[in-house]
Amino acid sequence: MRVTITLECTSCHARNYLSTKNKRNSPERIEVKKFCPKERKVTLHRETK
Ligand SMILES: [Zn+2]
Repeated sequence: MRVTITLECTSCHARNYLSTKNKRNSPERIEVKKFCPKERKVTLHRETK
């Protein structure tokens, strides 16, 4: 049930993280606060298509 997703920074659109999620627990796009190395600060990252 786990699928691979890409997490993209919502402010600079850099794709910083590969992750997995459980489709049953979170069927919609997830958002997490992560450190963006490009901006060198914590930003909101969203799952891409
Ligand atoms: Zn960023």
